[in-house]
Amino acid sequence: MDCIFCQIVAGEVPSEIIYQDEEVIAFRDINPQAPTHLIIIPRKHVPSLAQLSEAEPSLIGHMVAAAGQLAKEEGVSETGYRLVINCGEWGGQLVPHLHMHLLGGKKLSGKLG
Ligand code: AMP
Ligand code: ZN
Repeated sequence: MDCIFCQIVAGEVPSEIIYQDEEVIAFRDINPQAPTHLIIIPRKHVPSLAQLSEAEPSLIGHMVAAAGQLAKEEGVSETGYRLVINCGEWGGQLVPHLHMHLLGGKKLSGKLG
């Protein structure tokens, strides 16, 4: 298994895990782009949004719900934040394990592409 995020789930690679439940975990991005920069992932290895089975739409809902809760705990819910899922090479996805970025704590750039 050479997936870095699966290794984080397995505890084989250290990370600052700040949330976990039976389906998802969240940890701080190693190269933060904002004062709050969290990564939220499913425990299960799903390569990207493109491979998420139609039978599992609830997984994304679960990730978004966790993000909303974490945004409150990080104190960025009132000022606002951004959730980003990069998908595939042209979408800017570098780590091939489905993940959502939660960015906040500063006024983010308006650039999206
Ligand atoms: P993406 O470009 O959407 O695939 O983003 C991958 C993100 O994972 C980047 O923001 C990286 O900084 C982050 N990342 C990569 N390896 C680690 C790690 N070991 N711990 C925490 N974050 C990581
Ligand atoms: Zn993985």
